[in-house]
Amino acid sequence: MQPHELISEYGNCREVDVGVMYPNGEDTKGIALAKMVCADCVVKEICLQQAMFSNETIGVWGGMTPKERDNYKRKLQRNGKSKRTRTL
Ligand code: SF4
Repeated sequence: MQPHELISEYGNCREVDVGVMYPNGEDTKGIALAKMVCADCVVKEICLQQAMFSNETIGVWGGMTPKERDNYKRKLQRNGKSKRTRTL
């Protein structure tokens, strides 16, 4: 199965209205609710990777908002660079 198929087949968000997963950036309660849906999702890691790979700019995916995914991606890139530098 492809990642998007796993997400649509097993993701917790298939059980909620799609709008729940796309809260406004200022809507802290809405963001918290979306994160609760993701919290125990069995495909959370796959979903997060897929969202970062495809540069999803809206919605909570893998338990993270777009801003959190950007920060996480930058952190991974920094760690990757520092690991490569150490091995040179
Ligand atoms: S992690 Fe969240 S957005 Fe991703 S499939 Fe699971 S419930 Fe849906």
